[in-house]
Amino acid sequence: MKTLEQLQFLNAYSQLPEGFYSRLNTTPLSNQYLISFNQQAAELIELHPDEVMRDDFIDIISGKKQLPGYEPLAMCYSGHQFGHYVPRLGDGRAILLGQVKTDSGERWDLQLKGAGPTEYSRGSDGRAVLRSTIREYLCSEAMHGLGIPTTRALCMIGSDTEVYREQIEPGAMLLRMAPSHIRFGSFEYFYYTQQYDKLKQLADHVIELHYPECKDGSNSYLALLKQAIKSTAELIAKWQAVGFSHGVMNTDNMSIHGLTLDYGPYGFLDTYQPDFICNHSDHQGRYAFNRQPDIGAFNLSCLAQALLPLLHEVPETAAELAMAELKEYRYLYVNHYAELMRNKLGLFEQKKEDQGLSDHLLRVMQKNNVDYTILFRALSQKSSSIARDLFIDREAFDKWYDDYQLRLVSENSNDNERSERMKHTNPKYILRNYMAEIAIEKATKNQDYSEIDRLLSLLQKPFDEHPDYEVYAEHPPEWAQQISVSCSS
Ligand code: AMP
Ligand code: MG
Repeated sequence: MKTLEQLQFLNAYSQLPEGFYSRLNTTPLSNQYLISFNQQAAELIELHPDEVMRDDFIDIISGKKQLPGYEPLAMCYSGHQFGHYVPRLGDGRAILLGQVKTDSGERWDLQLKGAGPTEYSRGSDGRAVLRSTIREYLCSEAMHGLGIPTTRALCMIGSDTEVYREQIEPGAMLLRMAPSHIRFGSFEYFYYTQQYDKLKQLADHVIELHYPECKDGSNSYLALLKQAIKSTAELIAKWQAVGFSHGVMNTDNMSIHGLTLDYGPYGFLDTYQPDFICNHSDHQGRYAFNRQPDIGAFNLSCLAQALLPLLHEVPETAAELAMAELKEYRYLYVNHYAELMRNKLGLFEQKKEDQGLSDHLLRVMQKNNVDYTILFRALSQKSSSIARDLFIDREAFDKWYDDYQLRLVSENSNDNERSERMKHTNPKYILRNYMAEIAIEKATKNQDYSEIDRLLSLLQKPFDEHPDYEVYAEHPPEWAQQISVSCSS
């Protein structure tokens, strides 16, 4: 375990030429203090947990006091926002401090969100409010706990700085970590500005650092596209299986690594409503829960288009190659989702009727307004009685359950084993909006940050029993329906 000074910074991204980023310093908040520190994330970069006790920890983490390895910069990108191409976005409120290489060879970008304006802020303040910072901090760790690829969160910093949104809110910062923060939109920027040499440099950078195996075949750029298609298909299948809605699946929020990136107005399903829209500004429902798999396909086609100049010198051939890869997406998605649903139902073997079985259950759940997480956890019990009681139309449930029983018998399923396995697949705890809201309310009204740490440790182990937190495994309270989340954070 290392001190902050012992971290080894190998800032490969900042060695790329001008045009990929703009260098700048962070603008500290006033009277910064630590709100929460995530030991799990610290371990990833081999940072000694006692470092958080240093007097200068906050100054260093906020970039106020620079480590010799820091080379702060804001990354340049563009992207498709709600289907429309926006030629220039970039990190408007995020600053990459540097990239750490661990002794085990992992690379972690340390990026500060809310660290002040950058060249890409376009008149906005470059700040993040405490409310949205808490939501991202908790959700990224909750997703990791659920086994879903995501950016991570090392710590959260509070302050006296006032930030203006619809009202005055306290400003905060989040230090987040990822192998890189390169997005689909990073490639689109160089494609649409016809800087194909830089497009190639970016692709080479990603391949060299993160996917060296792409160099094994004859077309490393096609291999990179293939890799992105696979990781995105698997990511979205995992979102669908756990009931997670991202809310703003613009291509500038799509990680080239297939990570959940940029938590804004996200939401987990309460009752199973497939057309659930978590973002109250998304009036058309473009990013509704059940549209996420298709939006994944759209976003990947944007990435594929941006990579065209690299795929083949003959444009028609490049397009054919890209189209053939994109066709794989649906297959990869459907297969992974089917596997996850089989796991959720505790089925070992793969059978033709399985999709019908899970679709049938989802239909009955939708009709009966059954809570998605609570139902699958209830099905993980040996007895079906708790699950059955969740349905108003018990007969409809019984009909499904008879088929399920036959299916279990057909693979000689053992109830004890099945139940144990399902409890490791179907979480007892997810981050419902109202839980985050309780933590936000305590933090903003009373400067009481204890709920954040409590939720963090709960959500990092969402499959375990936590007797002190039974209430969080129950149906959300009625006031939860009044919570509204939008992009303005
Ligand atoms: P997001 O909706 O958070 O993915 O942001 C979309 C774009 O707007 C990105 O380029 C952000 O960096 C930028 N942005 C969002 N909020 C702010 C802010 N408060 N100040 C400056 N830029 C911002
Ligand atoms: Mg974003």
